Amino acid sequence: MEWNKPPEIRGRRETERQQFVRATYAQKVEEKREAGDGPAPQLTADDLRAAGSRTIGPEVSGKCVTFCEPSPISWPIFSCGVATAMKSCLICKSAIEPFISFGRMPIANGFLTKEQFAVEPFYELATGFCKTCKMVQLTELVDPDKMFHENYAFFSSTSAGMAAHFESMAKSVKAKYLGPDPFVVEIGSNDGIMLRHFADAGIRHLGVEPSANVAEVARRRGITTISEFFDVNLAKRITAEHGQADAFLGANVMCHIPTLHSVVAGVKMLLKPRGVLVFEDPYLGDIIEKGSYDQIYDEHAFYFSVTSLDHLFAEHELEIIDVASQLTHGGSMRYTVAHRGAWPVTPAVAAQRIKETNLGLSRAETYEQFRRRVETSRDELMALLCKLKADGKRVAAYGATSKSTTVTNYCGITPDIIEYISDTTSIKQNKFSPGAHIPVKPHAEFAKRYPDYALLFAWNHAAEIKAKETAFIESGGRWIVYVPRVEAQS
Ligand SMILES: [Zn+2]
Repeated sequence: MEWNKPPEIRGRRETERQQFVRATYAQKVEEKREAGDGPAPQLTADDLRAAGSRTIGPEVSGKCVTFCEPSPISWPIFSCGVATAMKSCLICKSAIEPFISFGRMPIANGFLTKEQFAVEPFYELATGFCKTCKMVQLTELVDPDKMFHENYAFFSSTSAGMAAHFESMAKSVKAKYLGPDPFVVEIGSNDGIMLRHFADAGIRHLGVEPSANVAEVARRRGITTISEFFDVNLAKRITAEHGQADAFLGANVMCHIPTLHSVVAGVKMLLKPRGVLVFEDPYLGDIIEKGSYDQIYDEHAFYFSVTSLDHLFAEHELEIIDVASQLTHGGSMRYTVAHRGAWPVTPAVAAQRIKETNLGLSRAETYEQFRRRVETSRDELMALLCKLKADGKRVAAYGATSKSTTVTNYCGITPDIIEYISDTTSIKQNKFSPGAHIPVKPHAEFAKRYPDYALLFAWNHAAEIKAKETAFIESGGRWIVYVPRVEAQS
């Protein structure tokens, strides 16, 4: 079977807003032609607002929307009505170029109904490497309103493995870093999966969770939670109301925040002299080592390493005092950060810097190699899926993850290749996957009549899933994985 990328995901989708902006620009070009020579026409913030952009607010008119430094708004900074193109590094403002583009991409967690197909938002998913501060980051940022809203479909506590992980993280912080009358703050506290271990022990705590419906679930469980975005202003208010914190926690949230300088400045202000910031995020070293390109999607603005974070924290008189690798999310790193000189630095930090040097995380060539590896992975996965299809095999997918959106849209996996994606999350069931529009079915569908092959999108939970799905293998079924390489496994 020949593989042809379907028309609906080829190139950019024309939204009404985009057409409006293009028409405005075309009109300006026409006006300039009539007026004779002069500077190239520029779209202004007013033009973009008139086109209905929520990204460009009046308060940031004429400035970069996610960073406080002035940067003139010009075409194509506003690319499709949902995202902002970044020409400079979000950390050090050096010029930045993408090293890989995954093409036009829908919102990773934007599972949708048939009626929503026509208004589905797209942007360009691409990552760049900053040669100056070594930070790997997205080069186009999606409007947060598009990603985190009242129907945000991710509840941490739905995974038993994650619950155990956060219990152990809370235990470790309690044992090492809490002083007298402790106070603990967590950003992106979700449904309280980690903070409840402090609440249950009677420890003063505060969750900061922007998704209102998720925050409400936490409050019902007795976790003190406010529904706001954390920045230096909120840090001031929290300090005034509750005093400084012993620990500031963040799991899979710091890498989501483009305005990282404001968050780190807030943390600096909020921490007691011996207070610590403990956070973990998917680790760049693992992504490069495993070729796990599906960690790259709209919500992850940054792909951290010790090397790049050293640069960020140094600007705020903070330093990394400990690091610990984690198995979560296919390879994460937990960083412990303190005021400079407040705590001894463990040998693990220097050891990790050496590992990063050996991995080549500071060299641009490493990212070129990564791009070639990702392209090969895509071609091998499509060749395998098309062969199975040609052989008359039934193929389904397992786990309607955010990560899977990058894979389906980048590779061009469509409903004629994958019958459906099985998922246990009720809010996603009977909807369609973003961009590729593969139906999402409840797990019962999978168990009722096993497919011949199941593409394992939730590969980071492979051990847990394989232990649960022994009957699938006994029925003759096989798993398809694509990290670290494409292969069928029993
Ligand atoms: Zn930089």
